[in-house]
Amino acid sequence: MSQHSITILGATGTIGLNTLDVISRHEDKFSVHALTANSNAQKLLELCIKFKPAYAVLLDEKASKDFQIGLKDSGLSTKFIFGIEGLIQVASAPEVDVVMAAIVGAAGLRPSLAAANAGKKILLANKETLVMSGGLFMNAVHQGGATLLPIDSEHNAIFQVMPSLNNGSLSSYGIRRILLTASGGPFRNTPKDDLHAVTLSQALKHPNWVMGKKITIDSATLMNKGLEVIEAHWLFNAMPEEIKVVVHPQSVIHSMVEYIDGSILAQLGNPDMRTPIAYALGFPERIESGVGSLDLFEIARLDFEKPDITKFPCLRLAYDALKMGGIAPAVLNAANEIAVEAFINGEIGFMDIPRVIEFTLEVTGHEEVTGLEMLLGTDANARQIARSLIEKIEC
Ligand code: NAD
Ligand code: MG
Repeated sequence: MSQHSITILGATGTIGLNTLDVISRHEDKFSVHALTANSNAQKLLELCIKFKPAYAVLLDEKASKDFQIGLKDSGLSTKFIFGIEGLIQVASAPEVDVVMAAIVGAAGLRPSLAAANAGKKILLANKETLVMSGGLFMNAVHQGGATLLPIDSEHNAIFQVMPSLNNGSLSSYGIRRILLTASGGPFRNTPKDDLHAVTLSQALKHPNWVMGKKITIDSATLMNKGLEVIEAHWLFNAMPEEIKVVVHPQSVIHSMVEYIDGSILAQLGNPDMRTPIAYALGFPERIESGVGSLDLFEIARLDFEKPDITKFPCLRLAYDALKMGGIAPAVLNAANEIAVEAFINGEIGFMDIPRVIEFTLEVTGHEEVTGLEMLLGTDANARQIARSLIEKIEC
Protein backbone atom coordinates (compact mmCIF):
# COMPACT_ATOMS: atom_id res chain seq x y z
CA MET A 1 0.00 0.00 0.00
CA SER A 2 1.53 3.36 -1.03
CA GLN A 3 1.26 6.34 1.35
CA HIS A 4 -2.13 8.07 1.34
CA SER A 5 -2.93 11.63 2.34
CA ILE A 6 -6.02 11.86 4.56
CA THR A 7 -8.36 14.61 5.74
CA ILE A 8 -10.30 13.88 8.92
CA LEU A 9 -13.52 15.89 9.20
CA GLY A 10 -14.60 15.81 12.84
CA ALA A 11 -11.14 14.83 14.13
CA THR A 12 -11.91 15.63 17.79
CA GLY A 13 -14.96 13.34 17.95
CA THR A 14 -15.16 9.66 18.85
CA ILE A 15 -14.78 8.46 15.27
CA GLY A 16 -12.09 11.05 14.50
CA LEU A 17 -10.00 10.00 17.49
CA ASN A 18 -10.42 6.30 16.72
CA THR A 19 -9.29 7.02 13.15
CA LEU A 20 -6.18 8.79 14.41
CA ASP A 21 -5.51 5.85 16.73
CA VAL A 22 -5.51 3.44 13.76
CA ILE A 23 -3.46 5.81 11.62
CA SER A 24 -0.83 6.18 14.35
CA ARG A 25 -0.20 2.43 13.96
CA HIS A 26 0.55 2.90 10.25
CA GLU A 27 2.70 5.99 9.85
CA ASP A 28 4.22 4.49 6.68
CA LYS A 29 0.76 4.26 5.04
CA PHE A 30 -0.92 7.57 5.92
CA SER A 31 0.01 11.22 6.16
CA VAL A 32 -2.51 13.66 7.66
CA HIS A 33 -3.48 16.49 5.30
CA ALA A 34 -6.09 18.19 7.49
CA LEU A 35 -7.84 17.91 10.84
CA THR A 36 -11.12 19.72 11.54
CA ALA A 37 -13.35 20.39 14.53
CA ASN A 38 -16.30 22.52 15.55
CA SER A 39 -15.13 24.37 18.68
CA ASN A 40 -12.65 22.30 20.68
CA ALA A 41 -9.53 24.40 20.00
CA GLN A 42 -7.41 22.79 22.68
CA LYS A 43 -8.02 19.23 21.51
CA LEU A 44 -7.45 20.21 17.89
CA LEU A 45 -4.15 21.85 18.81
CA GLU A 46 -3.04 18.74 20.72
CA LEU A 47 -3.85 16.62 17.68
CA CYS A 48 -2.00 19.03 15.36
CA ILE A 49 1.10 18.82 17.56
CA LYS A 50 0.96 15.02 17.35
CA PHE A 51 -0.03 14.52 13.69
CA LYS A 52 1.37 17.68 12.05
CA PRO A 53 -1.32 18.21 9.41
CA ALA A 54 -0.84 20.75 6.61
CA TYR A 55 -4.22 22.35 7.50
CA ALA A 56 -6.53 22.73 10.49
CA VAL A 57 -10.12 24.00 10.35
CA LEU A 58 -12.48 25.23 13.07
CA LEU A 59 -16.09 26.41 12.77
CA ASP A 60 -16.40 28.47 15.94
CA GLU A 61 -15.05 32.05 15.87
CA LYS A 62 -13.96 32.34 19.49
CA ALA A 63 -12.28 28.90 19.35
CA SER A 64 -10.51 29.96 16.14
CA LYS A 65 -8.87 32.92 17.89
CA ASP A 66 -7.64 30.74 20.78
CA PHE A 67 -6.43 28.12 18.33
CA GLN A 68 -4.45 30.58 16.23
CA ILE A 69 -2.65 31.89 19.32
CA GLY A 70 -1.79 28.34 20.35
CA LEU A 71 -0.71 27.44 16.83
CA LYS A 72 1.67 30.40 16.68
CA ASP A 73 3.22 29.48 20.03
CA SER A 74 3.65 25.87 18.93
CA GLY A 75 5.86 26.80 15.97
CA LEU A 76 4.01 24.30 13.75
CA SER A 77 3.78 24.93 9.99
CA THR A 78 0.06 23.90 9.98
CA LYS A 79 -2.08 26.51 8.21
CA PHE A 80 -5.42 27.50 9.73
CA ILE A 81 -8.64 27.99 7.72
CA PHE A 82 -11.89 29.19 9.25
CA GLY A 83 -15.40 27.92 8.63
CA ILE A 84 -17.41 25.83 6.19
CA GLU A 85 -15.31 27.00 3.21
CA GLY A 86 -12.30 25.54 5.01
CA LEU A 87 -14.08 22.20 5.44
CA ILE A 88 -14.96 22.14 1.74
CA GLN A 89 -11.42 23.04 0.74
CA VAL A 90 -9.72 20.32 2.80
CA ALA A 91 -12.33 17.72 1.75
CA SER A 92 -11.70 18.31 -1.94
CA ALA A 93 -8.05 19.46 -2.23
CA PRO A 94 -6.22 17.76 -5.13
CA GLU A 95 -3.46 16.41 -2.85
CA VAL A 96 -6.01 14.51 -0.68
CA ASP A 97 -6.66 10.81 -1.38
CA VAL A 98 -8.90 9.83 1.51
CA VAL A 99 -11.57 11.76 3.46
CA MET A 100 -12.91 10.49 6.76
CA ALA A 101 -16.38 12.08 7.01
CA ALA A 102 -16.95 12.03 10.79
CA ILE A 103 -18.78 15.28 11.50
CA VAL A 104 -22.02 14.67 13.40
CA GLY A 105 -25.33 15.70 11.87
CA ALA A 106 -26.40 17.76 8.87
CA ALA A 107 -23.29 19.95 9.27
CA GLY A 108 -21.38 17.16 7.52
CA LEU A 109 -23.41 17.32 4.32
CA ARG A 110 -21.58 20.00 2.32
CA PRO A 111 -18.02 18.79 3.00
CA SER A 112 -19.07 15.16 2.33
CA LEU A 113 -20.62 16.26 -0.97
CA ALA A 114 -17.46 18.20 -1.84
CA ALA A 115 -15.38 15.05 -1.27
CA ALA A 116 -17.79 13.06 -3.48
CA ASN A 117 -17.68 15.63 -6.29
CA ALA A 118 -13.88 15.65 -6.11
CA GLY A 119 -13.74 11.85 -6.54
CA LYS A 120 -12.14 11.03 -3.19
CA LYS A 121 -12.08 7.75 -1.32
CA ILE A 122 -14.74 8.63 1.29
CA LEU A 123 -14.92 6.80 4.59
CA LEU A 124 -18.47 7.70 5.57
CA ALA A 125 -19.35 7.77 9.27
CA ASN A 126 -21.66 10.80 8.93
CA LYS A 127 -24.84 8.80 8.27
CA GLU A 128 -26.97 11.99 8.38
CA THR A 129 -25.55 12.93 4.96
CA LEU A 130 -27.09 9.81 3.40
CA VAL A 131 -30.35 10.19 5.32
CA MET A 132 -30.79 13.80 4.25
CA SER A 133 -29.62 13.63 0.71
CA GLY A 134 -29.20 9.97 -0.29
CA GLY A 135 -30.11 10.49 -3.96
CA LEU A 136 -28.00 13.64 -4.39
CA PHE A 137 -25.05 12.19 -2.53
CA MET A 138 -24.99 8.85 -4.37
CA ASN A 139 -25.21 10.74 -7.70
CA ALA A 140 -22.27 12.91 -6.67
CA VAL A 141 -20.31 9.77 -5.72
CA HIS A 142 -20.97 8.17 -9.11
CA GLN A 143 -20.45 11.30 -11.19
CA GLY A 144 -17.37 12.38 -9.24
CA GLY A 145 -15.85 8.88 -9.53
CA ALA A 146 -15.54 8.67 -5.73
CA THR A 147 -15.19 5.43 -3.77
CA LEU A 148 -17.59 5.12 -0.85
CA LEU A 149 -16.71 2.93 2.12
CA PRO A 150 -19.16 2.68 5.05
CA ILE A 151 -17.81 3.19 8.57
CA ASP A 152 -21.03 2.60 10.51
CA SER A 153 -20.30 -0.80 12.06
CA GLU A 154 -23.48 -2.41 10.65
CA HIS A 155 -22.92 -1.19 7.09
CA ASN A 156 -19.24 -1.96 7.27
CA ALA A 157 -20.17 -5.51 8.39
CA ILE A 158 -22.59 -5.85 5.46
CA PHE A 159 -19.92 -4.51 3.11
CA GLN A 160 -17.46 -7.10 4.44
CA VAL A 161 -19.81 -9.98 3.61
CA MET A 162 -21.09 -8.38 0.38
CA PRO A 163 -17.98 -6.60 -0.86
CA SER A 164 -19.46 -4.49 -3.63
CA LEU A 165 -21.78 -1.53 -3.20
CA ASN A 166 -24.69 -2.55 -5.37
CA ASN A 167 -25.99 -0.81 -8.43
CA GLY A 168 -28.54 -3.51 -9.17
CA SER A 169 -31.27 -4.85 -6.89
CA LEU A 170 -30.34 -7.07 -3.94
CA SER A 171 -31.99 -10.07 -5.63
CA SER A 172 -29.80 -9.62 -8.71
CA TYR A 173 -26.86 -10.39 -6.40
CA GLY A 174 -28.58 -13.46 -4.93
CA ILE A 175 -29.41 -11.62 -1.71
CA ARG A 176 -32.77 -12.07 0.03
CA ARG A 177 -32.41 -9.46 2.77
CA ILE A 178 -30.16 -7.51 5.05
CA LEU A 179 -30.32 -8.16 8.79
CA LEU A 180 -29.30 -5.01 10.62
CA THR A 181 -28.39 -5.72 14.23
CA ALA A 182 -29.22 -3.32 17.08
CA SER A 183 -28.12 -3.48 20.71
CA GLY A 184 -31.57 -2.30 21.81
CA GLY A 185 -29.99 0.57 23.74
CA PRO A 186 -30.14 1.27 27.49
CA PHE A 187 -33.96 1.00 27.65
CA ARG A 188 -34.40 -2.41 26.02
CA ASN A 189 -35.87 -3.80 29.23
CA THR A 190 -37.49 -0.61 30.52
CA PRO A 191 -41.32 -0.85 30.52
CA LYS A 192 -42.94 1.42 27.92
CA ASP A 193 -44.78 3.48 30.54
CA ASP A 194 -41.52 4.31 32.35
CA LEU A 195 -39.86 5.77 29.25
CA HIS A 196 -41.52 9.19 29.74
CA ALA A 197 -39.55 9.74 32.92
CA VAL A 198 -36.07 8.58 31.87
CA THR A 199 -33.25 11.08 32.44
CA LEU A 200 -30.46 12.31 30.20
CA SER A 201 -27.80 10.48 32.19
CA GLN A 202 -29.76 7.21 31.89
CA ALA A 203 -30.13 7.75 28.13
CA LEU A 204 -26.40 8.44 27.79
CA LYS A 205 -25.45 5.05 29.28
CA HIS A 206 -25.10 2.91 26.18
CA PRO A 207 -24.63 -0.75 27.13
CA ASN A 208 -21.89 -1.62 24.60
CA TRP A 209 -20.51 1.34 22.61
CA VAL A 210 -18.70 4.56 23.54
CA MET A 211 -19.95 7.27 21.15
CA GLY A 212 -20.72 10.99 20.80
CA LYS A 213 -23.77 12.37 22.64
CA LYS A 214 -26.13 12.73 19.68
CA ILE A 215 -25.70 9.17 18.39
CA THR A 216 -25.93 7.82 21.97
CA ILE A 217 -29.36 9.43 22.39
CA ASP A 218 -30.31 8.19 18.89
CA SER A 219 -29.37 4.69 20.07
CA ALA A 220 -31.60 5.02 23.13
CA THR A 221 -34.65 6.03 21.02
CA LEU A 222 -33.72 3.49 18.26
CA MET A 223 -33.66 6.42 15.82
CA ASN A 224 -30.04 5.46 15.20
CA LYS A 225 -31.29 2.16 13.78
CA GLY A 226 -33.93 4.01 11.79
CA LEU A 227 -31.29 6.28 10.28
CA GLU A 228 -29.24 3.16 9.53
CA VAL A 229 -32.17 1.57 7.70
CA ILE A 230 -32.24 4.62 5.41
CA GLU A 231 -28.44 4.51 5.14
CA ALA A 232 -28.61 0.83 4.09
CA HIS A 233 -31.22 1.66 1.47
CA TRP A 234 -28.86 4.09 -0.26
CA LEU A 235 -25.63 2.18 0.20
CA PHE A 236 -26.88 -1.25 -0.86
CA ASN A 237 -29.85 -0.37 -3.03
CA ALA A 238 -32.11 -2.26 -0.61
CA MET A 239 -35.86 -1.71 -0.45
CA PRO A 240 -37.43 -1.02 2.99
CA GLU A 241 -38.97 -4.52 3.13
CA GLU A 242 -35.55 -6.05 2.40
CA ILE A 243 -34.02 -4.50 5.55
CA LYS A 244 -34.85 -6.23 8.81
CA VAL A 245 -33.80 -4.95 12.20
CA VAL A 246 -32.77 -7.62 14.71
CA VAL A 247 -32.13 -6.70 18.33
CA HIS A 248 -28.95 -8.44 19.44
CA PRO A 249 -28.02 -7.21 22.93
CA GLN A 250 -24.41 -8.48 22.96
CA SER A 251 -23.40 -6.30 19.95
CA VAL A 252 -21.01 -8.96 18.74
CA ILE A 253 -22.61 -9.66 15.37
CA HIS A 254 -22.40 -6.32 13.62
CA SER A 255 -24.90 -7.25 10.89
CA MET A 256 -25.77 -10.05 8.46
CA VAL A 257 -26.66 -10.69 4.84
CA GLU A 258 -29.10 -13.46 3.96
CA TYR A 259 -28.70 -15.03 0.50
CA ILE A 260 -31.47 -16.67 -1.56
CA ASP A 261 -30.11 -20.15 -0.82
CA GLY A 262 -30.79 -19.59 2.90
CA SER A 263 -27.16 -18.87 3.85
CA ILE A 264 -26.63 -16.05 6.32
CA LEU A 265 -23.18 -14.42 6.41
CA ALA A 266 -22.28 -12.36 9.46
CA GLN A 267 -19.34 -10.25 10.59
CA LEU A 268 -18.41 -10.58 14.27
CA GLY A 269 -15.95 -8.78 16.50
CA ASN A 270 -15.53 -6.74 19.65
CA PRO A 271 -17.69 -3.59 19.63
CA ASP A 272 -14.80 -1.25 18.78
CA MET A 273 -15.04 1.23 15.90
CA ARG A 274 -11.35 0.77 15.09
CA THR A 275 -12.25 -2.48 13.27
CA PRO A 276 -14.55 -0.91 10.64
CA ILE A 277 -12.24 2.12 10.42
CA ALA A 278 -9.18 -0.07 9.77
CA TYR A 279 -11.11 -2.15 7.24
CA ALA A 280 -12.03 0.96 5.26
CA LEU A 281 -8.60 2.60 5.64
CA GLY A 282 -6.80 -0.50 4.37
CA PHE A 283 -9.40 -1.67 1.82
CA PRO A 284 -8.94 -3.91 -0.06
CA GLU A 285 -6.08 -4.96 2.23
CA ARG A 286 -6.52 -5.82 5.93
CA ILE A 287 -4.49 -3.76 8.37
CA GLU A 288 -3.89 -3.95 12.13
CA SER A 289 -6.49 -1.97 14.12
CA GLY A 290 -5.42 -2.42 17.73
CA VAL A 291 -8.61 -4.40 18.47
CA GLY A 292 -8.08 -7.64 20.39
CA SER A 293 -9.66 -11.04 19.75
CA LEU A 294 -13.29 -11.58 20.58
CA ASP A 295 -13.50 -13.96 23.54
CA LEU A 296 -16.32 -16.25 22.47
CA PHE A 297 -16.15 -18.21 25.73
CA GLU A 298 -16.70 -15.04 27.70
CA ILE A 299 -19.58 -13.99 25.38
CA ALA A 300 -20.96 -17.54 25.67
CA ARG A 301 -24.31 -16.79 24.03
CA LEU A 302 -25.88 -14.69 21.31
CA ASP A 303 -29.46 -13.51 21.79
CA PHE A 304 -31.91 -12.11 19.23
CA GLU A 305 -35.20 -10.25 19.73
CA LYS A 306 -37.76 -8.42 17.62
CA PRO A 307 -37.62 -4.63 17.98
CA ASP A 308 -40.65 -3.15 19.77
CA ILE A 309 -41.85 -0.32 17.52
CA THR A 310 -44.70 0.69 19.80
CA LYS A 311 -42.19 1.32 22.57
CA PHE A 312 -39.68 2.93 20.19
CA PRO A 313 -41.75 4.88 17.62
CA CYS A 314 -38.62 6.48 16.10
CA LEU A 315 -37.82 3.25 14.27
CA ARG A 316 -41.30 3.17 12.72
CA LEU A 317 -41.05 6.85 11.79
CA ALA A 318 -37.78 6.22 9.94
CA TYR A 319 -39.29 3.33 7.95
CA ASP A 320 -42.30 5.55 7.17
CA ALA A 321 -40.06 8.40 5.98
CA LEU A 322 -38.05 6.04 3.78
CA LYS A 323 -41.27 4.71 2.21
CA MET A 324 -42.61 8.26 1.74
CA GLY A 325 -39.39 9.26 -0.02
CA GLY A 326 -38.79 12.77 -1.37
CA ILE A 327 -37.96 15.22 1.39
CA ALA A 328 -39.35 13.01 4.22
CA PRO A 329 -36.00 11.50 5.36
CA ALA A 330 -34.41 14.99 5.41
CA VAL A 331 -37.33 16.29 7.49
CA LEU A 332 -37.06 13.29 9.83
CA ASN A 333 -33.34 13.96 10.26
CA ALA A 334 -33.71 17.69 10.89
CA ALA A 335 -36.55 17.24 13.39
CA ASN A 336 -34.59 14.53 15.15
CA GLU A 337 -31.48 16.72 15.49
CA ILE A 338 -33.55 19.52 17.01
CA ALA A 339 -35.50 17.18 19.31
CA VAL A 340 -32.34 15.42 20.54
CA GLU A 341 -30.67 18.75 21.23
CA ALA A 342 -33.77 19.89 23.17
CA PHE A 343 -33.76 16.65 25.18
CA ILE A 344 -30.04 17.10 25.96
CA ASN A 345 -30.78 20.69 27.09
CA GLY A 346 -33.60 19.49 29.37
CA GLU A 347 -36.32 21.27 27.35
CA ILE A 348 -38.36 18.16 26.51
CA GLY A 349 -38.81 14.63 27.80
CA PHE A 350 -37.50 11.45 26.16
CA MET A 351 -40.84 10.45 24.62
CA ASP A 352 -41.32 13.96 23.23
CA ILE A 353 -38.54 13.18 20.74
CA PRO A 354 -40.74 10.96 18.51
CA ARG A 355 -43.69 13.36 19.03
CA VAL A 356 -41.70 16.29 17.67
CA ILE A 357 -40.52 14.25 14.68
CA GLU A 358 -43.97 12.89 13.84
CA PHE A 359 -45.53 16.36 14.08
CA THR A 360 -42.83 17.88 11.85
CA LEU A 361 -43.29 15.14 9.24
CA GLU A 362 -47.06 15.69 9.22
CA VAL A 363 -46.84 19.47 8.90
CA THR A 364 -44.20 19.41 6.16
CA GLY A 365 -46.06 17.21 3.67
CA HIS A 366 -44.62 15.55 0.57
CA GLU A 367 -42.25 17.02 -2.02
CA GLU A 368 -39.58 15.64 -4.30
CA VAL A 369 -35.96 16.73 -3.80
CA THR A 370 -34.98 18.97 -6.69
CA GLY A 371 -31.49 20.02 -5.65
CA LEU A 372 -29.12 20.95 -2.85
CA GLU A 373 -30.45 24.46 -2.20
CA MET A 374 -34.01 23.14 -1.98
CA LEU A 375 -32.85 20.43 0.42
CA LEU A 376 -31.06 22.94 2.65
CA GLY A 377 -34.26 25.05 2.65
CA THR A 378 -36.28 21.97 3.64
CA ASP A 379 -33.82 21.23 6.43
CA ALA A 380 -34.08 24.81 7.78
CA ASN A 381 -37.88 24.80 7.55
CA ALA A 382 -38.20 21.45 9.35
CA ARG A 383 -35.93 22.72 12.14
CA GLN A 384 -38.15 25.74 12.60
CA ILE A 385 -41.32 23.62 12.76
CA ALA A 386 -39.73 21.27 15.28
CA ARG A 387 -38.58 24.21 17.41
CA SER A 388 -42.03 25.78 17.37
CA LEU A 389 -43.52 22.60 18.81
CA ILE A 390 -40.77 22.28 21.42
CA GLU A 391 -41.56 25.81 22.65
CA LYS A 392 -45.13 24.66 23.33
CA ILE A 393 -44.07 21.55 25.25
CA GLU A 394 -43.69 22.01 28.98
CA CYS A 395 -41.16 19.66 30.46
P1 NAD B 1 -18.85 13.27 18.22
O1 NAD B 1 -19.89 14.16 18.76
O2 NAD B 1 -17.98 12.50 19.15
O3 NAD B 1 -17.89 14.11 17.23
C1 NAD B 1 -18.40 14.95 16.25
C2 NAD B 1 -17.29 15.68 15.51
O4 NAD B 1 -17.91 16.60 14.59
C3 NAD B 1 -16.39 16.54 16.42
O5 NAD B 1 -15.08 16.53 15.92
C4 NAD B 1 -17.00 17.94 16.30
O6 NAD B 1 -16.04 18.97 16.51
C5 NAD B 1 -17.47 17.93 14.85
N1 NAD B 1 -18.63 18.83 14.67
C6 NAD B 1 -19.76 18.88 15.41
N2 NAD B 1 -20.61 19.83 14.94
C7 NAD B 1 -19.98 20.39 13.89
C8 NAD B 1 -20.32 21.44 12.99
N3 NAD B 1 -21.48 22.11 13.10
N4 NAD B 1 -19.46 21.75 11.99
C9 NAD B 1 -18.28 21.09 11.88
N5 NAD B 1 -17.88 20.09 12.71
C10 NAD B 1 -18.73 19.75 13.68
O7 NAD B 1 -19.60 12.28 17.21
P2 NAD B 1 -19.20 10.79 16.79
O8 NAD B 1 -19.75 9.81 17.76
O9 NAD B 1 -17.72 10.73 16.46
O10 NAD B 1 -20.04 10.63 15.44
C11 NAD B 1 -19.65 11.23 14.25
C12 NAD B 1 -20.52 10.67 13.12
O11 NAD B 1 -20.25 9.29 12.99
C13 NAD B 1 -22.03 10.79 13.38
O12 NAD B 1 -22.68 11.02 12.16
C14 NAD B 1 -22.40 9.42 13.91
O13 NAD B 1 -23.74 9.07 13.64
C15 NAD B 1 -21.44 8.53 13.12
N6 NAD B 1 -21.14 7.26 13.78
C16 NAD B 1 -20.53 7.26 14.99
C17 NAD B 1 -20.26 6.04 15.62
C18 NAD B 1 -19.54 5.98 16.95
O14 NAD B 1 -19.25 4.88 17.42
N7 NAD B 1 -19.23 7.08 17.57
C19 NAD B 1 -20.63 4.84 14.99
C20 NAD B 1 -21.25 4.89 13.77
C21 NAD B 1 -21.49 6.11 13.15
MG1 MG C 1 -24.18 1.82 13.73
